[in-house]
Amino acid sequence: MIKQKYINHLRVSSGKKIHLKDFDTGWDQFEEFKEYGKDKLKEHANILLQQNLVDLTSAQQLLYADDRYSLLIIFQAMDAAGKDGTIKHVMSGVNPQGCQVFSFKKPSEEELSHNFLWRYMKNLPERGRIGIFNRSYYEDVLVVKVHPELIKNLPDANRNSEFWGDRYEDINSFERHLVRNGTVVLKFFLNVSKVEQKKRFMERLLRPEKNWKFSAADLSERAYWSDYMHAYEEAIRATNTESAPWYIIPADNKWVTRALVADIICSTLRGLDLKFPKLSDAQLKILDEARKILEAEG
Ligand code: AMP
Ligand code: MG
Repeated sequence: MIKQKYINHLRVSSGKKIHLKDFDTGWDQFEEFKEYGKDKLKEHANILLQQNLVDLTSAQQLLYADDRYSLLIIFQAMDAAGKDGTIKHVMSGVNPQGCQVFSFKKPSEEELSHNFLWRYMKNLPERGRIGIFNRSYYEDVLVVKVHPELIKNLPDANRNSEFWGDRYEDINSFERHLVRNGTVVLKFFLNVSKVEQKKRFMERLLRPEKNWKFSAADLSERAYWSDYMHAYEEAIRATNTESAPWYIIPADNKWVTRALVADIICSTLRGLDLKFPKLSDAQLKILDEARKILEAEG
């Protein structure tokens, strides 16, 4: 388990303006990792991840049995920040029957002809399950804010600050509705530096087995880096609530990112009062009878 004081440090405090420049994207801000030095970092972070994966497996089982809550985990980030790898590693320990991952790409014509939350609503996790959104409705206040020409056919297509304020408000109301109905909402921004993104893009370009991961759009979006940072700062500030908090995760080291995310998911599940359902006397009697019938078979 990672010390609570580090986790608290990653959780965004309410109401304050956010300057992403003040958030370190590296790993040596954590005493926990620093003492291992660069060489042993991967090994140590991996040990933490594995411990959390064991906890996550049982926590998920309990979430399912308890059948009162669901968990929605949102991942947002710039390209190459490690969303896919984090999802793959963190979820490697969970039962696929209790977990679903949805990756949201550019909306289809059909999706665009509905309200902006529609396609996400349709893919929410049912009670007892974990749902992961690889990108989410936050794209509608991030990429769409950076490229307002993506908004079409809206009566109030006046893309002023009120328009975005209304969208943040819609998101907050939507999340409040989910939380009130038993969905725990966790939001991760994987905070990668521009320098590290370049390094990862270069790897995608230079290593043939990684070529498929590169898309020309990644490079053109990189040119809007500061607009994206600004959109993230605004969106995180406006939608960071007590019941649906944002975590800003340093993402320049993939192993550290994965260990931190797994730890926060586990501690969130631990914080719920999950219990195996208690059987009534009548139910226990049925089990007892079933046992007797099987035993009588010899
Ligand atoms: P990737 O996750 O790398 O496969 O890329 C998915 C692309 O879809 C990204 O460029 C996103 O910005 C884009 N995208 C996702 N959601 C939306 C949205 N609601 N509106 C416009 N573009 C989106
Ligand atoms: Mg991509």
